[in-house]
Amino acid sequence: MARNWDVVVVGSGAAGLMACLELPPELRVLLLSKDSAPRSASRWAQGGIASVTRPEDSFTSHIEDTLRAGAGLCDQPAVELLVHQAPDCVRRLLEIGMAFDRDGPALSTTLEAAHSHRRVLHAQDRTGGALVEALEREVQGRDGLEQRRGVAALGLWMEQGRCVGLQVMEAGQIHCLKAGAVVLATGGGGHLFVHTTNPAMACGDGVVMAWQAGAELRDMEFVQFHPTALMLPGAPRFLISEAVRGEGAHLLDGQGCSPVADLPGGDLAPRDQVSRALARTMREQGVDHLWLDLRPVGKQRLEQQFPTILGRCRELGLEPTEEPIPVAPAAHYWMGGIFTDHEAATSVPGLYAVGEVACTGIHGANRLASNSLMECLVFSRQLRLLKLEPQALITADQFGPDCKPDRELALDLPPIEVLEQAIGKLRELCWWAAGVERCRRDLAPSLGRIRQQRRALEQDPNWQRFSSLRAGGEVGLKSESALGPVLKTKLEPELGKRFLTWHELHQRLVLAELVMEAALFREESRGGHFRTDAPASQPFWRRHSIQKRGPAGGGEHTIGTTPVDQPAQRDPPRGAQQT
Ligand SMILES: Cc1cc2nc3c(=O)[nH]c(=O)nc-3n(C[C@H](O)[C@H](O)[C@H](O)COP(=O)(O)OP(=O)(O)OC[C@H]3O[C@@H](n4cnc5c(N)ncnc54)[C@H](O)[C@@H]3O)c2cc1C
Repeated sequence: MARNWDVVVVGSGAAGLMACLELPPELRVLLLSKDSAPRSASRWAQGGIASVTRPEDSFTSHIEDTLRAGAGLCDQPAVELLVHQAPDCVRRLLEIGMAFDRDGPALSTTLEAAHSHRRVLHAQDRTGGALVEALEREVQGRDGLEQRRGVAALGLWMEQGRCVGLQVMEAGQIHCLKAGAVVLATGGGGHLFVHTTNPAMACGDGVVMAWQAGAELRDMEFVQFHPTALMLPGAPRFLISEAVRGEGAHLLDGQGCSPVADLPGGDLAPRDQVSRALARTMREQGVDHLWLDLRPVGKQRLEQQFPTILGRCRELGLEPTEEPIPVAPAAHYWMGGIFTDHEAATSVPGLYAVGEVACTGIHGANRLASNSLMECLVFSRQLRLLKLEPQALITADQFGPDCKPDRELALDLPPIEVLEQAIGKLRELCWWAAGVERCRRDLAPSLGRIRQQRRALEQDPNWQRFSSLRAGGEVGLKSESALGPVLKTKLEPELGKRFLTWHELHQRLVLAELVMEAALFREESRGGHFRTDAPASQPFWRRHSIQKRGPAGGGEHTIGTTPVDQPAQRDPPRGAQQT
């Protein structure tokens, strides 16, 4: 793998792939993803992609639905950009062969929660799979692009306040890649919670790397909990798409009563309200799941429109055409993330973010169903405007071709089972303290515990040794001789896997700390964030939360607020920073 690129895109879900297609064609692009098998939240998306395509629908209606779901925290200009650009994205997808379902010659649309019109385009219940396959086919043909799987980004490389590359691990070796720009498309962080619809790689790596590099994070407390994940002991929390409720399925408790009867909109009320109604009913009735009855949809329609859901249920011994299936809420989507402007730029020069890792402001406090895939596409397409600044351009001979490992990093890490257990406990804690319902009494001590654990890990001599190699350190990175240890560090093969789990534990601790801090800070309830000790929305809190890292890079940081609709301020480079 060459060591210098115009742009490195990290993550090959919908956002990363679309970014690769849209980046100016003259740029040499490296596309990385840490998964070795093709897997991402994008591939798992079932329900569809929102866009106005029907004559009875309108931009105004899509904008209003998005703003209403966002509970006062959407940035309207970002929402307008999304809604107006969406039909153009659909045209682009059709051009590259995306196989949307059709009703005769027209595109078929379905209804999802809180949409006033049938505007969700789909490809059966594997819309994400079809989308990623179409994008991947196209990306393969892009000139000047190399794709590598099984490469994990560990941290960003900062020089004089700008991102100039990143540190990665491939096949047990740590390398540094130099880049004119880095685009983070690493997805969300739902896997921080023990109950989640997200794949394991959705653990917030991009947010943490950006935070460590000094980027501003926004609205980190806002997590969307999907009400209907399959809840079978020992089986992953497979998503049962809202689209089945759009087609007539409904929720039931053990006595056959509706747990959402009191909600305006009932089964199709906004996700946060349905999730809370389910969580409360489960608590009151002392059960760990409720039921979703898919029979009203009809066998034929289920077979036609939801083959993936049916297939998965049947694999697990359930027959949804004959009996209700067990469901419970699970972490699903992160509204917050790296604060980006309309051109996908973060507050760190040279660093861009697209997709679920970014907080563009379109989802506010709660995402409208099926807006997220469209957000991935629309904001990644904005990267066609990317212009590399002259100081970001890299000469081809800056790194020599010889990148064989020449040095071993001696680490004495805990066994992998111990590390995995620590991750498991952290996920339980996050669910317990920062899940569907939160309160100060649970958040404050959990935050203290997580902070302590993170600091203990950072004081460990292993971490110190690894940190001395970190790409973000300014020290020594400019002289050729000092580049050696950073560029060419080799770990024993078994240690490589252990190292990645250990590193992931650290990153998850940082992420959990950021989420808990933001959840504690916002003393009200709004959208996906519900505080049992502050259950009402407060006018003062119609503001975004913003977390920034202290300039010393020593862990001190600030949390504050900014008004809604305030465009991102993009400062010139601010001098040296550490990651
Ligand atoms: C089950 C499910 C169903 C959904 N259904 C819908 C739907 O119907 N409609 C809708 O609009 N949205 C839906 N969503 C949400 C939507 O799928 C996601 O928001 C969107 O796909 C995110 O895309 P992304 O490209 O940002 O990230 P992802 O698709 O998650 O891709 C992230 C990529 O980053 C890589 N990566 C992560 N960390 C690193 C690292 N450190 N180094 C290298 N690579 C890294 C991963 O390997 C992966 O390739 C659903 C989500 C889930 C989980």
